[in-house]
Amino acid sequence: MDDNILTLKRWIEESSNIVFFGGAGVSTESGIPDFRSVDGLYHQKFDYPPETILSGSFFETHTEEFYRFYRDKMLISGVKPNRAHIRLAELEAEGKLRAVITQNIDGLHQLAGSRNVLELHGSVLRNHCVKCGRSYGLEAVTSCEGVPKCTCGGTIKPDVVLYGECLDEDVIEASVKAIRNADMLIIGGTSLVVYPAAGLVDYYRGNRLVLINRDPTGYDSSADLLITGKIGEVFSQV
Ligand code: NAD
Repeated sequence: MDDNILTLKRWIEESSNIVFFGGAGVSTESGIPDFRSVDGLYHQKFDYPPETILSGSFFETHTEEFYRFYRDKMLISGVKPNRAHIRLAELEAEGKLRAVITQNIDGLHQLAGSRNVLELHGSVLRNHCVKCGRSYGLEAVTSCEGVPKCTCGGTIKPDVVLYGECLDEDVIEASVKAIRNADMLIIGGTSLVVYPAAGLVDYYRGNRLVLINRDPTGYDSSADLLITGKIGEVFSQV
């Protein structure tokens, strides 16, 4: 076994307050494309850049087009948690991991059994009517074509933080608290360029900052342990 993996394994054994902070790369091995890898959405051609389509203002002005992209690229049916999601859930059940903080909106951590999941960017599984506030599940979006409508006639919107929208204050506060108190912070599958989410890792005060990513990030030199590779493969060994 690789020395870095052995170190990660030992650190996990010695820790009792691990926090995991992850992004789209955690779900690529489940078949959901990320944004910035070579095969990610940012390298495909659309009429507008993905950041534009996935913005709050585009949702308001081009709702039908937003939903065409969103259904096609963000709602992948039949996806299952991979070894990273599953091992993280096991570590929580073993009393070692305190929180998963995710930028993902796919709900795969909960599907794997994780309970304390802080979703910085919301979830595709939850939706609401912009007019009356009524809550809807995923099927409200998947079971129709065009713009999904509430029984009151209002437009249904995903509970996802779109570009230009604010993050939930309570989720940020809980994330900061979890990271501040962590004895080990594992960051994985994220390019760490989406703010304010990425800035949260600066709250870590310990000396076991682990970074597991396929491509280099601006935080590589800050890591106490840097593992370059696929996160599912790494977690299947620890
Ligand atoms: P990103 O696309 O900017 O970066 C993904 C990073 O993960 C890259 O650095 C890549 O090298 C790495 N990566 C990809 N597959 C990996 C693997 N198997 N193992 C290890 N590393 C891997 O993603 P981001 O930093 O999360 O920021 C993008 C934003 O897009 C987030 O805010 C997120 O909400 C959203 N998003 C979510 C999903 C999802 O819910 N699954 C998918 C796409 C985008």
